[in-house]
Amino acid sequence: MAKRESVVRIGALLPDIMSTYGDDGNALVLRKRLEWRGYQAEIVPITLQDAVPESCDIYTLGGGEDVAQILGAEHLRQSRGIFRAVEAGRPLLAVCAGLQMLGEWFQVADGSRAEGVGLLDITTQPQSERSIGELTATPLHPQLQQKLTGFENHMGATVLGGDAQPLGRVHIGVGNSVPAGVEPPAEGFVDGVVQGSIIATYMHGPVLARNPELADYLLAQALRVEPGSLGVLDLPVVDKLREERFYGALHPPRLDP
Ligand code: GLN
Repeated sequence: MAKRESVVRIGALLPDIMSTYGDDGNALVLRKRLEWRGYQAEIVPITLQDAVPESCDIYTLGGGEDVAQILGAEHLRQSRGIFRAVEAGRPLLAVCAGLQMLGEWFQVADGSRAEGVGLLDITTQPQSERSIGELTATPLHPQLQQKLTGFENHMGATVLGGDAQPLGRVHIGVGNSVPAGVEPPAEGFVDGVVQGSIIATYMHGPVLARNPELADYLLAQALRVEPGSLGVLDLPVVDKLREERFYGALHPPRLDP
């Protein structure tokens, strides 16, 4: 367990090329939630110019454009730090392009196929049309009870292999979706991937600003304490944000959580 005197290090992977959708906010949320609880925390930006350190307590990786994710995947594959960190059980949160690039391969909009990092048992191909809008899901992860909210904006559809589990069952939106030409599953779409210490999702938001339970689950993994032992932070503004996302004026009749 990290002592409150020692600094918790949040590795923000590739903020220089993978922050198009504001997912760099996830690292800010983690730092703030630690500080509110009396921990010292710092965000360590890990750019394309940097070797990936294996020593961070937790890592985040955001969404981005096709070209950025090809470059990013190559960098993470070559600089081996993230493999060692994940092997050691360090939590890693990946969003959208970040999710896609951690897989075995991903096919981008121009039809070319790029090699992924290979940390997730998933592959990604284009869906028939781009998905843009709110995304809500019920978590399938045993440590998460609160409904998940975010927004999605992607062309890719992700298929999970046997080692990967979905993060949630989708209510609004498509999440992982299905590749073009594949029938949507009768039981509905799922979102995200859980595999080892990696949690990945199609949810921007930033997802941790909208989903404090997920943020605290990841922090508990980073600090190596029991999930739930961090206690709940009383943040009415976050409750209000969630209320607005699930029941708000933007989506009155469709959003039934
Ligand atoms: N380029 C990817 C896609 O469109 C990821 C986009 C994103 O990160 N939002 O599927």
